[in-house]
Amino acid sequence: MTILTDGIIINEKPLKDKDKIITVLTRERGVISIFANGAKVGKHSSATGLLAYSDLSLASTRGDSYVLKDAVPKQIFFRLREDLTVLSLAQYFAELTYELCPREDRADEELSLILNALHLLCEGKKDISIIKSVTELRLLTLAGYMPAVECCCECGCDLEDETLFFDVFTGELFCEKCKGSRKLFPCSVGVLTAMRYICLAPANKIFSFSLSPDGLSALSEISERYLKSITRKKFKTLDFYKKMM
Ligand SMILES: [Zn+2]
Repeated sequence: MTILTDGIIINEKPLKDKDKIITVLTRERGVISIFANGAKVGKHSSATGLLAYSDLSLASTRGDSYVLKDAVPKQIFFRLREDLTVLSLAQYFAELTYELCPREDRADEELSLILNALHLLCEGKKDISIIKSVTELRLLTLAGYMPAVECCCECGCDLEDETLFFDVFTGELFCEKCKGSRKLFPCSVGVLTAMRYICLAPANKIFSFSLSPDGLSALSEISERYLKSITRKKFKTLDFYKKMM
């Protein structure tokens, strides 16, 4: 059976001779591994390189086993490689994709999120910490871990002009009265508005907001800690990104 799909390469593992195994976030099947015969060199090498976005033709022999028949690059994102900080963030997004995106299921929104994030990184106009927080929180939301950012989880109050407090372990909000002795992250009105926006806005608009420098660093801290508590993983690429900052 032949499958035609587009997808972004999120990992490549060289095998002996000229072969490699690539891991791809595909539109049709989510995250899958593909055996790419002879693709280390030759006509398929750039379309199957890390972070390339390509049209792929695959042979599916049995169940979840795929062999590459053809690959044509749609976009290579060359500019990611001009800046190590940007490249390490893009590689972190690839790692997150592997952890959080569907398998053997459609991944339209996940794919367009990652493509938009990479476009913005290449363009260099948007603050990269916004790109990082949006990608983290929206991927978590799509994976079923949307934080409960509506109101205080205990009393239901939504004090529109007061700071609330976020629990990065449960993804819940508390008001000053209900938080008790819990160690929580203060969430100013601006940060909370940004978090709600990231989780709920239409996919094509989620990167379009701005925040004060203080708000941005709070958002960054909250989204990263929440992501780590959900995935319970250490991301090598994130550590590298932080060293580059
Ligand atoms: Zn409360």
